Amino acid sequence: MSEPSIVHRACPFCEATCGVAITVDGDTIVSVRGDKEDPFSQGFICPKAYGLKELYEDGDRLRRPLKRTGSGWQEIEWQTAVNEIADRMIAIREKHGNDAIGMYTGNPVVHDYGALLYRPVFQRALATRNLFNSAAIDTLPKIVQTALMFGRPFPTAVPVPDIDRTDHLLIIGANPVVSHGSLMSMPNAPGRLKGVSDRGGKVVVLDPRRSETAELADEHHFIRPGSDAALLLAMIHTLFEEGLVSLGAAEGLTRDLDEVEKAAEDFSPETVSNHCGIAATEIRRLAREFAAAESAACYGRLGTCVQEFGTLASWGCDLLNILTGNLDRPGGVMFTQPAAPIDAAFPPTKGFEINRWQSRVSHQPEVGGLVPSSTMAEEILTPGDGQVHAMFLLMTNPLRSAANSTQLERAFKQLDLIVAVDFYINETTQYADYILPTPSPAEHEHFDIGLNYLTVRNMAKWSNGIGAAQGDLPHSWEILATLGARLMGFEGMALSDIDDFILRQYADAALETNIQWQDLTTDEIVGKLDSPRGPQRLVDLLIRLGHYGDGFGRNPEGLTLEKVQASDHGLDLGALQPRLAEIINTDSGKIELAPPTMIDDLPRLQDRMRQTPDSMLLIGRRDLRSTNSFTHNLAALVKGPDRCTLQINPKDATRLGLVDGQSARITSRVGTVVAPVVITEELMPGVASLPHGWGHDAEGSQMQVAENHPGINSNVLTDDQAYDVASGAAILFGTPVQIEPAPQ
Ligand code: SF4
Repeated sequence: MSEPSIVHRACPFCEATCGVAITVDGDTIVSVRGDKEDPFSQGFICPKAYGLKELYEDGDRLRRPLKRTGSGWQEIEWQTAVNEIADRMIAIREKHGNDAIGMYTGNPVVHDYGALLYRPVFQRALATRNLFNSAAIDTLPKIVQTALMFGRPFPTAVPVPDIDRTDHLLIIGANPVVSHGSLMSMPNAPGRLKGVSDRGGKVVVLDPRRSETAELADEHHFIRPGSDAALLLAMIHTLFEEGLVSLGAAEGLTRDLDEVEKAAEDFSPETVSNHCGIAATEIRRLAREFAAAESAACYGRLGTCVQEFGTLASWGCDLLNILTGNLDRPGGVMFTQPAAPIDAAFPPTKGFEINRWQSRVSHQPEVGGLVPSSTMAEEILTPGDGQVHAMFLLMTNPLRSAANSTQLERAFKQLDLIVAVDFYINETTQYADYILPTPSPAEHEHFDIGLNYLTVRNMAKWSNGIGAAQGDLPHSWEILATLGARLMGFEGMALSDIDDFILRQYADAALETNIQWQDLTTDEIVGKLDSPRGPQRLVDLLIRLGHYGDGFGRNPEGLTLEKVQASDHGLDLGALQPRLAEIINTDSGKIELAPPTMIDDLPRLQDRMRQTPDSMLLIGRRDLRSTNSFTHNLAALVKGPDRCTLQINPKDATRLGLVDGQSARITSRVGTVVAPVVITEELMPGVASLPHGWGHDAEGSQMQVAENHPGINSNVLTDDQAYDVASGAAILFGTPVQIEPAPQ
């Protein structure tokens, strides 16, 4: 009989990265508990962590690669699958050109360091302009805004609220009590938020829904969807008008302050009040209190991004932080110092250009090599040079996450080839020609690369896999490296040789602009990296070249992967430290306070302010037990009453003739759904809410638990042609809809 062992790792189900302790007996996961010795999470977990066990055990989870045949699915060896896929992709490229293959990456990639580190290599091999990902759905405005203001690619310049020291936290369009922080990685969001109030500070929430975070806050205001940018500009207007602008650490490091003052002139609190639904006196008070706080942080997330003025709203949040001296100061917003900085290997060039090219059909701007995910369907459906004929899907279910899913489904049905790296036959992968499953998160090791730019404390944590037998399932990096090599013409090359080649590419790139450790050579780096092949070596390289690193012996006390792995529960690298000067990477060497992309978009905002909404506006919502759509196939996370309901204010329900518990028909420009009604004062009048990621009644998907809890696919309603003009991101929150009682 084997002795149970305990495996420590970070939970992979959201950005909080809580430490978990998994008790394993042979191939069985006995339990999942919070790791009390994890210095970051100190034992905190939420109910989703248990999903590690359920996902590992799920009978629907694929454990062999599948190939579509005329009569269904056939199991196939993964090397055979990769060879067949490569042959078909090469044939498509030869016939239609490189852009004929699109790629879409889902957010689980963030929790799989192999996928994250080998994706750039694979994308280079694909050499297509049609790269889409989940961030191009829900984060694109933030990516554009931080790139234009700080001159750096995402996520290397995202100011993160220093929540554990702040005196005043203004939360706009975010629900961290449920999401546990996004672009603000922090375990125990409820405890940390409560901590602000407990030490005499204040938490203020602006949201069209009295969310779980609003319930816990000191103050909540309803705000009309899409009006955050106007509200923030009115607060900035107040700062200038009342002489409250004080740049603090940013003094001498900004450009165009006068342009911002001029831009804000047209947005007095009295002018925007009606549009936002917040009284002018309250807007002025909010601005004064933010400016007067010892330290303050403005945090905007999904609600500020997936809306009509996402880039302007993201800009407004950081302007408010900068103009009140709260950028780069303890208790304000600061830049995390990651232990394994990806920019050690891919240093950004000076300045960061967006819009280097536009999407083929609707001419949306390119941002960091990405185009808005809402353009995917039109790029597949519209004939002509550059039309997408094949899609490579990396851990994603876009038919439930992207706007106008009915149109996207029509597009996917006409593709010549779909390859999915996924462990479910879901609403999207049902249309794949090949599905390549990878081990479940509990089974593979991990080190957070992307999220380490966004943590509210500096930290490093190695995640172990449980060491269970995985059959011949390849890891994601093996799929990407092998397939990428084939696409680059390296036929018959052993995986070990491919990986050595990739490692040298990383090392060469790192040395090109490395100034921290002088006289390093690629040979020395490669010679001293004795971790196993694969992503471990790349992480070791990034750690040793990074801020805390040993510089391959030049700083013997510094960090190596071995040292991180030796700390079973993770390393606390301390509170966030000021580092603004090293972050700024614009051509001017200053923070660009008034990029033309934002200034040029202001007349559109003013136009919108002059209009009176004549429809109900639909927003999404998140709940504690739901993240990616696959979590709906985990019984522990979907039990209880139906959570996929249409929430609506009693005044609207009465006006529209809706009855609590009965069904409503909801119609937008692109689709109609029917959902059960919940009447609640939690919603602002004029606004209705339906959660996203549901709709598991597709005939071809094979997820039994999800099929028994199907819910409604809200992206039948979201409109791919309605978008934030500055970034091209589709509007997912604030969709105009008609709502009426559904026939009984
Ligand atoms: S908050 Fe929950 S889902 Fe997120 S990392 Fe922690 S335990 Fe996992």
